[in-house]
Amino acid sequence: MTAALSARHGVMRIETCAGSWLIDARRRQFCRVERGTPVTFLPPRAWRAFHSLLVGDAGVVRLVLDERGLSAVSGWLHADDCVRCAQAARKLA
Ligand SMILES: [Zn+2]
Repeated sequence: MTAALSARHGVMRIETCAGSWLIDARRRQFCRVERGTPVTFLPPRAWRAFHSLLVGDAGVVRLVLDERGLSAVSGWLHADDCVRCAQAARKLA
C-alpha cells in the first residue's frame, strides 16, 4: 500500500489517477509527471507556479493557479486498489 501523498527533498508528491503531481510548497511550484518519475531529474522549466492546493473530502485534489481562482488543475487521489482506475480498466477490457 502506497500513500497518495508523500514528501521527499521538500517536494510533496501526490498520486492522481492521471499521473503524479510534484508540489514544491516553499517555492509554490508544481509539476505533473508520469507516475514513478524520480523527483531529482526534472528540468527547471518543467515547473509551473501555483497559488494554492486544495484537497477535498471526496478525494478530489485541486491546484489553483492564480490568485482569483480562475484557472485550476484538478484530479482524483490515486491509491493502490484504486476503484476509479479499476473501473477504467474494466471498461477497456
Ligand atoms: Zn486511480
